Amino acid sequence: MIRPLAVLAVAAMLPLAAMAEPCPGNPQALGTERTLTVAATTSPRVGRKEFAATLPLGPKELVLTFDDGPWPTTTPKVLDALKSECVLATFFLVGRNAEAHAGIVRRILAEGHSVGHHTYAHPLLDHMPIEKAETEIDRGIAADEFAATGQRRTTPTTPFFRFPGFASTPALLDRLQARGIVVFGADVWASDWLAMTPEQELQLILNRIAKIDHGIVLLHDTKAQTAHMLPAFLRELKKRGYRIVHIVAGSSGAS
Ligand SMILES: [Zn+2]
Repeated sequence: MIRPLAVLAVAAMLPLAAMAEPCPGNPQALGTERTLTVAATTSPRVGRKEFAATLPLGPKELVLTFDDGPWPTTTPKVLDALKSECVLATFFLVGRNAEAHAGIVRRILAEGHSVGHHTYAHPLLDHMPIEKAETEIDRGIAADEFAATGQRRTTPTTPFFRFPGFASTPALLDRLQARGIVVFGADVWASDWLAMTPEQELQLILNRIAKIDHGIVLLHDTKAQTAHMLPAFLRELKKRGYRIVHIVAGSSGAS
């Protein structure tokens, strides 16, 4: 008869844990703390590596982003790791990969993640005429949208974009802002384009996150070492008291 009282007492001591959404099969999951709506009207350019400001995040709040996929050997592993911790992330897709692996794009969306855009073939856009750069951006958006929805459109469902290699130009930034597209930089990255072991990558990213406290984390779901370290990374974030924020598109127009 004492059992229900004991449960109530524990619940009273842990109000946040009691309020959190349960994660099937993983009571210790990192989870997703909250959803943040992002719109170009208020946050046109975010990420302190490149821009003056980042997203309005609180202490120890992180947004997880993955670039360059979908990739058949690694993205499903990344999705498995996120799913087992009930963590929602944002994937900046390369259009030609989305075209080739549309099933993975649909899985990303079905599991609740956000999809942003990262050009069609990943060229550096500051090395070409602006019209050509815009064509490349739009071809990528259209390929991603077609994979996701079956509609080839250049108005993105989620107006989030990241420049390959962060190679933006002031003119392109202005044009994207005029279209209501939020440009994402990052606040911290794992340098996972360099060869290293999953253990080295894990230590590197944890040390860097400790220095910035909160912000947008940039990883690559195309990298085997990143897919490999992700389960341990998510467990460490939980252990160290970080909280995950999921970004979604804001409604267009004034609000
Ligand atoms: Zn990239």
